[in-house]
Amino acid sequence: TPPAQLRNFCIIAHIDHGKSTLADRMLQITGVVSDRDMRAQYLDRMDIERERGITIKSQAVRMPWATDAGTFALNMIDTPGHVDFTYEVSRSLAACEGAILLVDAAQGIEAQTLANLYLALENDLEIIPVLNKIDLPAADPEKYAAELANLIGGDPADVLKVSGKTGIGVEELLDRIVERIPAPKGDADAPARAMIFDSVYDAYRGVVTYVRMIDGKLEPRERIQMMSTRAAHDLLEIGVSSPEPVPTKGLGVGEVGYLITGVKDVRQSKVGDTITNHRKPATDALAGYTDPKPMVFSGIYPIDGSDYAVLREALDKLKLSDASLQYEPETSVALGFGFRCGFLGLLHLEIITERLSREFDLDLITTAPSVTYTVTTDTNETVTVTNPSEYPDGRVAEVSEPVVKVGILLPKDYVGTVMELCQSRRGTLLGMDYLSEDRVELRYNMPLGEIVFDFFDHLKSKTQGYASLDYEPAGSQTADLVKVDILLQGEKVDAFSSIVHREKAYAYGTLMTERLRKLIPRQQFEVPIQAAIGARIIARENISAIRKDVLAKCYGGDISRKRKLLEKQKEGKKRMKMVGRVEVPQEAFIAALSGD
Ligand code: GDP
Ligand code: MG
Repeated sequence: TPPAQLRNFCIIAHIDHGKSTLADRMLQITGVVSDRDMRAQYLDRMDIERERGITIKSQAVRMPWATDAGTFALNMIDTPGHVDFTYEVSRSLAACEGAILLVDAAQGIEAQTLANLYLALENDLEIIPVLNKIDLPAADPEKYAAELANLIGGDPADVLKVSGKTGIGVEELLDRIVERIPAPKGDADAPARAMIFDSVYDAYRGVVTYVRMIDGKLEPRERIQMMSTRAAHDLLEIGVSSPEPVPTKGLGVGEVGYLITGVKDVRQSKVGDTITNHRKPATDALAGYTDPKPMVFSGIYPIDGSDYAVLREALDKLKLSDASLQYEPETSVALGFGFRCGFLGLLHLEIITERLSREFDLDLITTAPSVTYTVTTDTNETVTVTNPSEYPDGRVAEVSEPVVKVGILLPKDYVGTVMELCQSRRGTLLGMDYLSEDRVELRYNMPLGEIVFDFFDHLKSKTQGYASLDYEPAGSQTADLVKVDILLQGEKVDAFSSIVHREKAYAYGTLMTERLRKLIPRQQFEVPIQAAIGARIIARENISAIRKDVLAKCYGGDISRKRKLLEKQKEGKKRMKMVGRVEVPQEAFIAALSGD
């Protein structure tokens, strides 16, 4: 397809504003998915995406669209809406010339609408403002059209009004895409340059690489070269997703498609790399993407120690399609062998652990999430701490923590409550704006460590679900932070150490010692549970002694019953962890960490 007949666009929106549903209708109206094969959220392939109704991975799909000016090929890239996946969003944006800015006509602009809009503007995309869900009785298209026009400039009358659910307005929107979004530009005669924007591992086909062609042409069976590594591969198949893979005779300027080389390792097909022809390679690679930096760290341990190798393999596999996932081996007194993992955010953490347990059938425990602290020691060394157990106890001169700029959109009635919440999380108010008469944007600087715990849950419950949140890194600040250790009979239990603000140390200490007292079974001796900052004890609980003798209950009679009890006790022992002389069932640690 000549570039003049191509349009590459994405849909950007706050989560739940209806991207996936609108994408469904477009697939149906353009005829690439028949009514019979249609199912909701067609492009959300992962089980976990369908169940939670969120998009995690970007998807690209090609659709034909006939207008008075001829037939066009529209490449749509569905993007995730959640803050954690901004990285995925920006990759998709770089493959497009335009973006549909989709806003729920009953909700108006939300925090991620703004965040994604700014990303699109940074990428010089043509923006098409669209209000969705106009079929809803609560929809107020006039009000929100004004809000949108006010935000991006232009006339409220030009804001398209659609329903992804019923299909109203979707044909007009497809026409508008052809009209308004520029055709891709590139040099058809130059050596090929194709930007890799996604790369996934498929059990049957090996690595499938998704590309956006900038210059030149790629054809089946030719030899291609990765510009970063100079590695060469033979193209076994090249084609477009529509939405099932359809092999083609090649991809030219501006086209979006996939290629298969038979490579088994996704690392050889690195997102952001440029692919060129082997025989006549291009001289300059395209500007790549910066690798995302993990913001949240947590230890992941198999509950059954013999699953360690499976866990390692599973992480290797997930890493193939998710470059932002990081991990390295770690051991813990309480939890055994596991991995220290780095995530983009809490939802990312949750999704990875859920995929591990679901797709690889693993029972896992994760330690409390931590951010990256930079510690300067009394000898002026700098130590980066992503795991509280690496904290240089007793040698700390100064600690700094990551800070984020938080944007919260909410109805004005909740401003007081939310300000209180932010204050309690050590937030500094940066500003407050009215988006419309009753909706407000609050901007705060806040330590990331205060957000990763349960900030979002609190925000939602305090505003009855009406507030939305987005954040971006904003450097770091020094703070009065301390490490709180939890001790069982004087022995540190590493998985419970936490770096917290000094004012919150006592609360953390009491919470954890109380939880553990309730969960750890009595031993034959008294066991103190303490919380400490360095050598100073800040909280204490006691588990009193008991003489535990299961056989005593049997009164000598029934031998087989005795044997069974002994077997059972042996079985239980396997899952016991020793902390000093104290025997703790692993379940107790797990329950204390998960707060059940
Ligand atoms: P996404 O998170 O932006 O991909 O949003 P989804 O497409 O998953 O939609 C979120 C919810 O809104 C789902 O329950 C949809 O059924 C619903 N929804 C989406 N579009 C419409 C619409 O046009 N009208 C109505 N009434 N509901 C919609
Ligand atoms: Mg979606």
